Amino acid sequence: MNVRRLIPTAAVAGAVALGLTTLSACSSSDAAEGGSDGKLNVVASFYPMQFLAEEIGGSHVSVTTLTKPGTEPHDLELSPRQTGGLSDADYILFLKGVQPAVDDAVEQAGVKNTVDAAKLTTLENHGSEVGHDHGHEEEGEEHGHEGEHGHEGEEEAGLDPHIWLDPVKYAEVAEGVGKSLEKADPDHAADYRKNTDALVTELNALDKAYETGLKNTSTKTFITTHSAFGYLAERYGLTQEGIAGIDPEAEPSPARIDEIHSVAEESKATTVFFETLASDKTAKTLAKDLGLKTGVLDPLEGITDKSAGADYIEVMKSNLTALQKALGAK
Ligand SMILES: [Zn+2]
Repeated sequence: MNVRRLIPTAAVAGAVALGLTTLSACSSSDAAEGGSDGKLNVVASFYPMQFLAEEIGGSHVSVTTLTKPGTEPHDLELSPRQTGGLSDADYILFLKGVQPAVDDAVEQAGVKNTVDAAKLTTLENHGSEVGHDHGHEEEGEEHGHEGEHGHEGEEEAGLDPHIWLDPVKYAEVAEGVGKSLEKADPDHAADYRKNTDALVTELNALDKAYETGLKNTSTKTFITTHSAFGYLAERYGLTQEGIAGIDPEAEPSPARIDEIHSVAEESKATTVFFETLASDKTAKTLAKDLGLKTGVLDPLEGITDKSAGADYIEVMKSNLTALQKALGAK
């Protein structure tokens, strides 16, 4: 039973006038209006999804994030409460391939408005096994094989999920999220549209800043512990040399370390980047051996007090500054 029906009409009118509740929306009694405060109850898998949901959803959504701030997201395990709570969500936003535990739980939850951000842009293979060439010309082929194998999971296994670190791809995802929110909660479609446009404008400006800021540099190569920057590198004509693979906690092989030594010399790389949420031991040892500096390049998989900015846009700007410094931007 809807508790609001019991509130005397006068009180309701007052509340509406004060903007405390959105009864008009509730009267449509759509399944999407599940939140007790009339807001769309959104569950986001990790920070880059949370940011999109908050920016685009604005005041019409109440966002819960499965990955707590400061937790490394790739190895996330969900509590039974989190898993159980998923089926109560009105709208789930996740990115398949980042967090296996979340992928499974989302599938189990069977929520109607479930959006996989990976489907809103194009994923590529950047060689999850380290040492591979970062050839983007493989992209077309990857998709060409899909029919033959027929097993979706296998095909997706090699795809790099870190699309949010490319402002252009992230903007594509933002567009898709905006459209899906309009569908899930049509009463507020105009606001979702407006918020999406505003965010995309910001992301376009960020893209321009990267493009201009990284145009003229002494080297195009950067070394990083966590191979999260494949899309970013490709977008701006850089080469990412990942010490470990897509998993930030993976220990690099001695052969890979040797390889990095020669790459660093040849490319005149100056800096070994590490990230805020994972161990910096490998980066520091390697930098010391090579006589290089260390720096922070934040893969934005979570935001904490230690992040170099309060939100996605700010951290991306400080990543740009760090890259410009390491690459010798002119
Ligand atoms: Zn990652």
